[in-house]
Amino acid sequence: MTGEETIVAISTPPGRGGLGVVRLSGARAIAITTSLIQFPKLPLETQRATLGTFTEPNSGRALDQAVVTCYRAPHSYTTEDLVEISCHGSPIVLRHLVECCLAAGARAAEPGEFTLRAFLNGRIDLTQAEAIRDLIESHTLYQARVAAQQLEGSLSRHLKPHKQTLLHLIAKMEAGIDFAEDDVAVIAWQEILSQLDRISGDLQKLVQGYEYGRIVREGLTLAIVGRPNVGKSSLFNRLLNEERAIVTPIPGTTRDLVTETANLGGIPLRFVDTAGIRAAVDDVERIGVERSFAAIADSDLRLLVVDASTPWTEDDSRLLDKLRPLGALLVALNKSDLASHPSWTHATRGRSFVSAFTTGTATPSSESAGSQKENCEAEATPPQIVHTSALTSDGISELKEKILALAAPSRDLGVEGEFITNLRHQQLLKASLEGLAKARRAAGEHVHHEMLLLDLYDALRPLDLITGATYADDVLDIIFKTFCVGK
Ligand code: GDP
Repeated sequence: MTGEETIVAISTPPGRGGLGVVRLSGARAIAITTSLIQFPKLPLETQRATLGTFTEPNSGRALDQAVVTCYRAPHSYTTEDLVEISCHGSPIVLRHLVECCLAAGARAAEPGEFTLRAFLNGRIDLTQAEAIRDLIESHTLYQARVAAQQLEGSLSRHLKPHKQTLLHLIAKMEAGIDFAEDDVAVIAWQEILSQLDRISGDLQKLVQGYEYGRIVREGLTLAIVGRPNVGKSSLFNRLLNEERAIVTPIPGTTRDLVTETANLGGIPLRFVDTAGIRAAVDDVERIGVERSFAAIADSDLRLLVVDASTPWTEDDSRLLDKLRPLGALLVALNKSDLASHPSWTHATRGRSFVSAFTTGTATPSSESAGSQKENCEAEATPPQIVHTSALTSDGISELKEKILALAAPSRDLGVEGEFITNLRHQQLLKASLEGLAKARRAAGEHVHHEMLLLDLYDALRPLDLITGATYADDVLDIIFKTFCVGK
């Protein structure tokens, strides 16, 4: 049983603060607390805060006032006796309190051990434990809301009917096999197939939703690319609403990559402001250019910035050629506050001009670009084009909208558990789908039920692993090691 050892840890973040909390869980949590802290009256009331004095055991000297909340098993986070000692947030006092707890028989908690105990004692399932970590690590309110939904058990609830269907099929077939001579009704093949299809269809949707879920959980990266001096840094700052990157009128001075994170519709968006890409004149600049291309290729989305007050150049074409094969691409026709160069004057003309280059069907002359227009519009995925001014902010909100629309097309939170945010869950759902596909093939061929049963178990097992109904210790290790100590 987990509660035999009493664990202790500081549960508040490192550093000084108004308050600091030390948490104990296990059979001796309350006894250890009352041996170190003097209270006006004992026993401690459960789920009530009691003011006490933390006294050094050796000298009997009072060190701090403490507000202690005691939760008795099973009504606690871990389902064990659990005590939260809230002191002033002095790292010295908190550490000393932990040392005194250790001397009194507690053991230092491993990262995530309180939550691990909550899981092992059946208080929460594995998806909820993972949601607690995501909630703590959320950077935006939207991320926190998504984690909170999962913490309420949305994913487990979503999977439950599918598990029940599979269990039902398995049970019927086991019965059919075991009592083959008796009159146990065997399910019609058609019914088996339709049930398997229903589960597959739903799991498939969840797997597909991961693409968006991953973005919600991890955020996304946008590389800002363009010739020197087109306004990349200025645009970057506008998007961040801050003045962080160095802005200078001298070409090629933003040599290093600058990464900042902004909150775009609840999704953390990391901007990579790449070094001015041009034929590098020295080694430092060459390194900058190489790093830029690596960062561009790794990004989820690319934004090509073009100076609309100057003509389209060979360099712009070259960049576009390099970006085209890399995936999602946005083009900002920047400096829209200035008089546009004749080749950009008409919006649709600008669009066809850029589109022409994205299809690789045009040469960099405005005349040929115009004549290529029809060709280009037939293309399936031309880059999205936005007119912007980093100086006046014109077009910035449209740019933000387009970034979100391109990176996260299905942005609505929708029904609970509609999308998954965790790679582990996605991999297990895929494994379950494989089992279902095998089972479907077997059922289609009317194979012996005993063979079909194996496939059904293959489909069910990964679903159990998601919620932790069955689990392997090494998986728990991987999950709980990513928690902070004290959680
Ligand atoms: P980068 O080299 O592409 O990062 O370009 P910067 O952001 O450093 O900008 C180069 C110059 O263009 C600076 O003097 C900026 O103030 C100016 N600039 C940037 N964006 C705009 C814009 O939208 N309109 C105007 N008029 N000037 C801009």
